[in-house]
Amino acid sequence: MSFHLLTKARNRTVFSYLLSRAFSHGPQRPGRPSFGIAFDIDGVILLGNSPVGGSPGALRKLYGADGGLKIPYVFLTNGGGFPEAKRAFELSQLLGVNVSPSQVLQGHSPFKQLVKRFENDLVVAVGKGEPAAVMSEYGFRHALSIDEYASCFENIDPLAPYKKWTSNLATMQNSKFNESFPRNDVLSKRVQAAFIVSDPVDWSRDIQVLCDILKTGGLPGRNVGPQPHIYFANDDLEYQTKFPSERLGMGAFRIALESIFNRIHPHCLEYTCFGKPHPSVFKNAEIVLQKLVASLYDDFYDKNHDKTSSFKTLYMIGDNPAVDIRGARQTGHPWFSILTRTGVFKGKENHDKFSADLVIPCLEKSHKYVNLFPLALLSFLVVDTVEEAVDYILAKECAS
Ligand SMILES: [Mg+2]
Repeated sequence: MSFHLLTKARNRTVFSYLLSRAFSHGPQRPGRPSFGIAFDIDGVILLGNSPVGGSPGALRKLYGADGGLKIPYVFLTNGGGFPEAKRAFELSQLLGVNVSPSQVLQGHSPFKQLVKRFENDLVVAVGKGEPAAVMSEYGFRHALSIDEYASCFENIDPLAPYKKWTSNLATMQNSKFNESFPRNDVLSKRVQAAFIVSDPVDWSRDIQVLCDILKTGGLPGRNVGPQPHIYFANDDLEYQTKFPSERLGMGAFRIALESIFNRIHPHCLEYTCFGKPHPSVFKNAEIVLQKLVASLYDDFYDKNHDKTSSFKTLYMIGDNPAVDIRGARQTGHPWFSILTRTGVFKGKENHDKFSADLVIPCLEKSHKYVNLFPLALLSFLVVDTVEEAVDYILAKECAS
């Protein structure tokens, strides 16, 4: 019988059965899951703010009938711009499932690791959304958005009079701004670091002001000084939105900034990029998933049980071969990559340079292959959507 022909009710029964098998290693009590899932967001779960690829239904399969999370998963995105708690709330609203802030790993989440270094320094946060609020949430006590920072310097952006979208609203959003940063302090205090939190909005102003900060040692309009640190949340050249072709991402902005800076400054730009495909991102996701499992299944384990036992398989479901697939493959065990066709990748076959571990042409085939071949032989199959990827994972985990 074709899997696609199953009725919704039948599907629910099947997945309840699969879930019970996935977590049941014995008749007495449910076992700790031996696998977890990391979902990319843009191009896999959402296009813009619209769900894509049956993502709400796919995610619901990871929850039990009581609404509780049964299969550990996280969102592993290079995107961002809002604090994790706010993003988790938005995702819950858009997808109809209960997402906790700990399940949201964004491109800028690793910036938390730098709090001790810059906690009391003036830092500038760049990008769409609420970049300064993100940094404040992480513990940076003197973080200003580039909107706030630039507003302190008269004439720093000669094109400002022509920008009708410029608004003082962003300046007012970070209420700490006026309390903690008298204008004269901003004008005399060196910026110690710039953080590109999310995709920059006003490239011309941001490149101008960042060049000012970087070549003067953190005091625009003054003499030259040692380059302050600059950190990028990701280095994605392109990403997928609702528009038919890819849009320029933070990596494109980095190239623009670096090219210009290197032309106007004697030393090349020094910078650090976070985000996928760096293996550290995947290793951190594994730790987060382990903690998630511990929080979900704590009741079932006595004190002697190893609560940090590792996963047999972690699935990365992504749409970008150079970011999602490359990162999972570079990280190696236990990561296993699945490529979808709802975003950046639209090819018929596997990507030639960063091939996914699994590319399934259709769901029926995947179920057939699950029972016949080891995963190593499934290197040239594709999934169209995230829902097909989740169906494959549940079937495979229950068959093993
Ligand atoms: Mg993506």
